[in-house]
Amino acid sequence: MQVIKVENLHKSFSDLHVLKGINREIKKGEVVVVIGPSGSGKSTFLRCLNLLEEPNDGKILYNGVNIVDKKNDINKYREKMGMVFQQFNLFPHMTVLENIMLAPMQIKNMNRNDAMKIAMDLLNTVGLSEKAETYPNKLSGGQKQRIAIARALAMQPEVMLFDEPTSALDPEMVGEVLDVIKKLAAQGMTMVVVTHEMGFAREVGDRVIFMDEGRIVEEEAPEVLFKSPQNPRTQDFLGKIL
Ligand code: ADP
Ligand code: MG
Repeated sequence: MQVIKVENLHKSFSDLHVLKGINREIKKGEVVVVIGPSGSGKSTFLRCLNLLEEPNDGKILYNGVNIVDKKNDINKYREKMGMVFQQFNLFPHMTVLENIMLAPMQIKNMNRNDAMKIAMDLLNTVGLSEKAETYPNKLSGGQKQRIAIARALAMQPEVMLFDEPTSALDPEMVGEVLDVIKKLAAQGMTMVVVTHEMGFAREVGDRVIFMDEGRIVEEEAPEVLFKSPQNPRTQDFLGKIL
């Protein structure tokens, strides 16, 4: 069953044509890894999926509903897609627990007790229960990113979008963040992950999409794409990073 279906998605920033007709289905429980050179449109693609950017053309069907269509309530669909960025964007003046509780209380009108229960469960999931009352500036980068993941999960999304979640981290902290994402994959979360972590892509990706110049150039199961890429541009890219 597909959760998201993208049809002929185009996005331009004034005269810069960034996404040039993306077509893709994302099935329930699938982990889709997106790779490609800097500037190829990976972030723009993710940001269009949850309508942080407004597409210029095409459709994004979410459980069959075209969410690009203005007559649908964008916010309702945005809530179903949690997003985690390279920069953690935690609120510095709030404790870890308050950071996680904020959106459920403000956006979903959840009461404080329920929000706290969810937040504590999620802190447990990301292995940071003991940091509930800590402020973000006392956390390492890896811990901050695990909190950012917990915060996104607090809205109980159906889909998680990760945009290079480990790119801003020191190498020794990459593993702890990837472990949390792996755990989510094992629990059946539907995810789209932009990453340069090829080991991770091989291990948890159901499919790998290679993007270049605003198009999906090649997509395959990871063991196929990494072993025998067909497109010369995929070969060139993988040759540089592997
Ligand atoms: P990637 O994530 O693959 O590195 P991006 O989607 O961030 O690529 O960017 C694709 C292209 O779109 C780049 O040329 C970038 O400079 C441009 N771009 C991205 N966001 C904006 C924006 N808000 N305004 C103008 N240009 C943008
Ligand atoms: Mg990017």
